[in-house]
Amino acid sequence: MPELPDLEVIVANLAPRVVGRTIRGAQALHPAFLQSTDLPLGEVVGREITGLGRRGKYLLFHLGSGLYLAIHLMRAGWVWHGLSRYDATKSTVFRLELDDGNDVRVIEAGFPKLSRGWLLPSLNEEPLAGLGVEPLSEDFTSEAFRKLVARKRRQIKKLLIDQKLIAGIGNAYADEILFVARLSPFRYAHTLDDGEVERLRRAIPEVLRWSIAEIKARVGDGLYQEEERSFLRVHGRAGKPCTECGTTIGEVLLGGQRTNFCPRCQHVDEFPERARRVS
Ligand SMILES: [Zn+2]
Repeated sequence: MPELPDLEVIVANLAPRVVGRTIRGAQALHPAFLQSTDLPLGEVVGREITGLGRRGKYLLFHLGSGLYLAIHLMRAGWVWHGLSRYDATKSTVFRLELDDGNDVRVIEAGFPKLSRGWLLPSLNEEPLAGLGVEPLSEDFTSEAFRKLVARKRRQIKKLLIDQKLIAGIGNAYADEILFVARLSPFRYAHTLDDGEVERLRRAIPEVLRWSIAEIKARVGDGLYQEEERSFLRVHGRAGKPCTECGTTIGEVLLGGQRTNFCPRCQHVDEFPERARRVS
């Protein structure tokens, strides 16, 4: 699933291709794609794309005069940009026709098709309204983060991926952040001391910024179909040696998601009962 760093690179690479273009047509080819019902899709036709942005894991098209198109790629959606005259494939779930002869399409192979879009009159509407703080923004201060984790009897990995608390972090980057912070994913937030809370907070933008640069270095200006994750140090590296200490990277299911960690660097002494070891 695309996370904040993936979305940042998509925005950076798609913006020069679409900002300033006028929309000639729009089609939702999958019936469940468009979730908002107040505004018909025809509202976007004739509008200029004045900007492209991101909020959490949502891609945002700014369409001027109080209209936004938010797209969530969910698990397997990706963004395609190319000539409109190429026929849409069965995997195309959404299509915006631009005035320069190109399309922006959301492509999702397989079933079920989970990518979704919303036409919104402002950025304060659902599904954006309930999102937590942006971890690369000035609002993500030590004080704000302390409040988020204070006295929470929840495992810190689950806090990191809770979109209502912090927007944009998912399973893969939560593992990387915890590795950089040298904290066990199984620790409960209320057990962290002040130093550990601050270490975790600092690791968040550090990992996200570093990852954006790593992805950008690998994909250049291209729009890619699969997340570029070859540079990650723990996530997806179960059974391989830790890049820092050589200990074998562990893997367990935590809340149904694969969680990778270095037992030594992250001081993982024991596995909690509910975290099942993946063999
Ligand atoms: Zn290690």
